[in-house]
Amino acid sequence: MSSAYAQRRARLLDRIGAGVVVVECGREPRNPSGHDTAYHPRPSFHYLTGFSERDGVLVLSRSSEGETKSTLFVLPRDAKAEMWTGRRVGAEAARELVGVDEAHDLTELDEKLPGLLRGHADLYLEVFEETALRAKLLGWCNRRVGAKTPADIVPQTLHNLTWTLAQMRLYKDDTEIEAIRAAVAVTEPAYRRVMAECRPGLTEGDLQAVLDGGFLRDGGQGPAYGTIVASGDNANVLHYVNNDQPLRDGDLVLIDAAAQARHYACDVTRTFPIGGRFTPIQRDVYQIVLESMHAGFALARPGGSMDAIHEATMARLTDGLLALGALSGSRDELLEKKAAGPFCPYSICHPIGLNVHDPSPRLDDAGHELLLQPGAVFTVEPGLYFPADNAELPAHLRGLGLRIEDDLLITADGYENLTAGIAKQPDEVEAWCGG
Ligand code: MG
Ligand code: MG
Repeated sequence: MSSAYAQRRARLLDRIGAGVVVVECGREPRNPSGHDTAYHPRPSFHYLTGFSERDGVLVLSRSSEGETKSTLFVLPRDAKAEMWTGRRVGAEAARELVGVDEAHDLTELDEKLPGLLRGHADLYLEVFEETALRAKLLGWCNRRVGAKTPADIVPQTLHNLTWTLAQMRLYKDDTEIEAIRAAVAVTEPAYRRVMAECRPGLTEGDLQAVLDGGFLRDGGQGPAYGTIVASGDNANVLHYVNNDQPLRDGDLVLIDAAAQARHYACDVTRTFPIGGRFTPIQRDVYQIVLESMHAGFALARPGGSMDAIHEATMARLTDGLLALGALSGSRDELLEKKAAGPFCPYSICHPIGLNVHDPSPRLDDAGHELLLQPGAVFTVEPGLYFPADNAELPAHLRGLGLRIEDDLLITADGYENLTAGIAKQPDEVEAWCGG
């Protein structure tokens, strides 16, 4: 498994030139009762190692002469601890698995890490992350201010690794794309099942159970983020999480839910009729959101930008809002005023990857805009939200809330819609719903 990760480590060192990089895996959260809970490795650590045992520390360095070194610290084998919290591979197996030059037990970290910093003027850390090791690292850097020879210097310049890695993570390599495809492969059948099983009389929670259960099947690691099942007017709460209301015939249900696989997320939203058939007004609004999505898709290609997709999508939503009577006036002025904003108050696109909202750097180190290039994976998620208590809206729109979300991969000559297999055209949605 090590080659893709070794290539990423090499690319990172190429980017920084000379210096030393320290990345921590992190520690699983423990709930108040003291039980261990599932955890995910810090994305930067997993990105560079493919290793996910908690508490690991990766140290990479390149000297000004170009000499590189990679060192991993891992939890030591400990039969008693492993009986409680799970197996550990130990330093020697971890060295082979990850493909680093050296691996040591974490118990040797305080003794060995100061030596790994020595001789390097620059330290790359996730500066704004509160990690267990950060204070120690800075303390070791402080201690050596009076070094007399180049070999004795310790880092005096701190760089934010988050920024460097964010630029790398924007364009996914093949291993990452396969992981996102694996997440989609787990997500799709869960949508098929939830649309087939949805009916009036069930609750939002019943649908969440179908989805979250499905996300654990076929290699899934469970939901990639908190599952949203928002029926009727609840869809107008963008981050609705209660999922506890009864499903009523005639309402729509908005589901924003997706699986994680191999530590990678996908991000999908579908809105469908609880009773299996759209009403005419629901279908009209759905069609507007769908067309706005396609207006965005049309700009998805190398050299394009998520901002341009956002603008095209919002322009089509503005046209739709005019047609529905939710807005009135001159189209140009409405676009100028961003009048559709209150009806869809967020960015239409965001990158996905190890995080469902992956870092989204806009500029490279030289200040140039980071445009879409092959390997970029991001969502397009237009919606229209008409809260029931907004008396300024035409009555027939109040209480409607819709969103549709797909995940696009930029290819050499355009894009691939990774989540196209999940029903989205209104007739197909009704067919999946058995309507
Ligand atoms: Mg999203
Ligand atoms: Mg989503």
